[in-house]
Amino acid sequence: MQSTPPARVIQVAVPRPLHSVYDYMVPDELDVPEPGARVEVPFGRSRTIGICTSNQVTSPHAKLKAITALLDTTPLVNAELMELAHWMTRYYHYPLGEVLSTILPVAARRGQAAELKPADCWQTTANAPAERARKQTELYAYIQAHPGISGEAVVEAGFTRALLRKLINQGHIEPGIPPLPTPQTGPAPNAEQQHALDAISARGDGFTAFLLDGITGSGKTEVYLQAMAPIIASGRQALVLVPEIGLTPQTVGRFQARFPRTGVLHSDLTDVARYQTWLRCQNGELDVLVGTRSAVFTPFKSLGIVVVDEEHDSSYKQQEGLRYSARDIAVKRAHELKVPLVLGSATPALESLHNARQGRYQHLHLTERAGGAALPSYHVIDMRGETQTDGISNPLVHVIKRHLSAGNQVLVFLNRRGFAPTLLCSACGWQAQCSDCDAKLTMHTRPPQLVCHHCGLRFQTPATCDACGQAALMPVGIGTQRSEAGLAKLFPEVPIYRIDRDTTRSNTALEARFDTINQGASCIMIGTQMLAKGHHFPDVTLVVVLNADAGFLSPDFRAPERTAQIIVQVAGRAGRAEKPGEVWIQSFQPDSPALTQLISEGYAGFAEKALAERQLAGLPPWNPMAMLRAEATAGEDAVRFLNTCKQQLTAARITSDPAAGGAGPSVSVFGPVAAPLARQANRTRYQLMVLADNRQHLHHALDHLQPPRSPGNLRWSIDVDPYDGL
Ligand code: ADP
Ligand code: ZN
Ligand code: ZN
Repeated sequence: MQSTPPARVIQVAVPRPLHSVYDYMVPDELDVPEPGARVEVPFGRSRTIGICTSNQVTSPHAKLKAITALLDTTPLVNAELMELAHWMTRYYHYPLGEVLSTILPVAARRGQAAELKPADCWQTTANAPAERARKQTELYAYIQAHPGISGEAVVEAGFTRALLRKLINQGHIEPGIPPLPTPQTGPAPNAEQQHALDAISARGDGFTAFLLDGITGSGKTEVYLQAMAPIIASGRQALVLVPEIGLTPQTVGRFQARFPRTGVLHSDLTDVARYQTWLRCQNGELDVLVGTRSAVFTPFKSLGIVVVDEEHDSSYKQQEGLRYSARDIAVKRAHELKVPLVLGSATPALESLHNARQGRYQHLHLTERAGGAALPSYHVIDMRGETQTDGISNPLVHVIKRHLSAGNQVLVFLNRRGFAPTLLCSACGWQAQCSDCDAKLTMHTRPPQLVCHHCGLRFQTPATCDACGQAALMPVGIGTQRSEAGLAKLFPEVPIYRIDRDTTRSNTALEARFDTINQGASCIMIGTQMLAKGHHFPDVTLVVVLNADAGFLSPDFRAPERTAQIIVQVAGRAGRAEKPGEVWIQSFQPDSPALTQLISEGYAGFAEKALAERQLAGLPPWNPMAMLRAEATAGEDAVRFLNTCKQQLTAARITSDPAAGGAGPSVSVFGPVAAPLARQANRTRYQLMVLADNRQHLHHALDHLQPPRSPGNLRWSIDVDPYDGL
């Protein structure tokens, strides 16, 4: 009998759930791939692209299928990323093949060759077109004036692609990249910035995590830039993660002005563009990468520093599929690569503050605004018994008037889109509900409709009540559309800009809005989260939080933290040196401890108390948590599934700790309970909460999970360090 020489058997991770690693044979006509190379393999009835994870396999199977193609001669996934993928598989309890598929750019996943395309950028040659070819001469002159201009920009300037191609084909122009601008230098750091920079450079070659805890406008970005400078000058690279909403042209511009070879990765790019940038980082052509969540998986030739801006931001946590935290992955990568890591925020996550207090992160403070601007003052309006117009109380009207008549701008924050969150029948109490979710429908005007903010279903606004038939329907509660209308009635003389997902869909539209606003004319902005982050409005002197209560009252244990962060972040938009800001907060519970703490002692005081509460309750960051979720068309199926999981987790706990008499309290399992908003898009969702006294115990329990067979429509997931939907 013939036996396959072991050297020609490899292990391949394929993007499939559960068992995702399989052995394959390498046929003689193909080279044996290195770990990290892509291969095409037969799988089921089709073919798929997988990653070779090992070429040192002695397979027990006599009959192996053969790989059908080798896509990379050098590994696409380098050793560092491969290690990271293995670690993520263990940490997030997610199949290796799916982890690898998540961390690769889509184009790479689909098998596109790992080749850098010549850039679509052009310069003139000495061979000018004949003068009588007028159009050609025009374009030639234009490109001569803009060496390195992209084909796209040429088209934007009004020339056609066909004309461009003609010039290329006739040798009048050739590929050429624009000359790099002379890098700018930054301002001299102030004392606090210098202290931070000294601390970071003192640990230049080795892992240290720094928590750069600095109020909005205190010059954190300037610290990142100056900390990066010597590292980049020494030929190494920097990875800068920013929240989705923070990746503005201004931010990118600041990095590009200092470091011309800066690349950008975000979700609006084409797959091809993303892949090209990924490859440019890998081969060292780019010095700096500024990117959103998934940029954390970019390979580098020589990474020298990692920065995570606004590290508390929820967009770093992926909420579906592989539920990773880009911030935590950044920490892991910096640790493995032994390079410094800077986590910056004006409102650090309790996790990060906890790590700083435990000595795992070095805590750096920036307490003053870099330009010397004054901090805003806080005021609370007790809403009990106040008369109000569309959510705006009388005292608030006076405050807004005062700021407008001084020629200043006002920012009104309300984290709720639409006109009103409820449409209620005043005769019988009926409320408009989504047909597919356990959720109330939000009433929108312009166009008038009822919208489910959870599944997106839209309905016509009824004229009469569905239950009693009376024409007694009324909107209850306030959304941004309604306060916009209210403000327009109260202040007809000033422009009002509403900024939320309904008015401002694209980043460019947002930029255009902000450009208008920052010309400084007196106006009112009303909007959601989109207003809270990343932008400075130098002419805003009044920030209003219309409803501070919802967040503090939510049952989600993270809600107070998120609410405090958002209040501080919006407040940070206001004021500059000569124009100090005021923050006015409307609340029906002005004495709630979370709010008073936040106002009297600032975010640090709030966080201190919140951490103490979490400790008492045995919650993260003190005790690690995982959430098992299951959803099915029939709720019982989800419950049955989770109950079996619970038995397994509990059994694992008992066998894990015989010293504690088989009943060690190391892992506690709560549930299954209905998830918040249990029915969504016609599926019912349940969850099981797992809390452990340490990470090892948590992972041990989760390792013992063997998800039972379940109906085909059941979907389930493990969420380690869950962030939302608790
Ligand atoms: P943050 O990232 O903390 O919000 P920035 O780095 O954006 O703060 O700084 C806020 C503003 O102050 C920016 O316009 C920046 O150019 C300016 N700035 C920062 N540091 C200094 C400094 N040392 N001297 C003068 N201006 C500074
Ligand atoms: Zn009714
Ligand atoms: Zn719905």
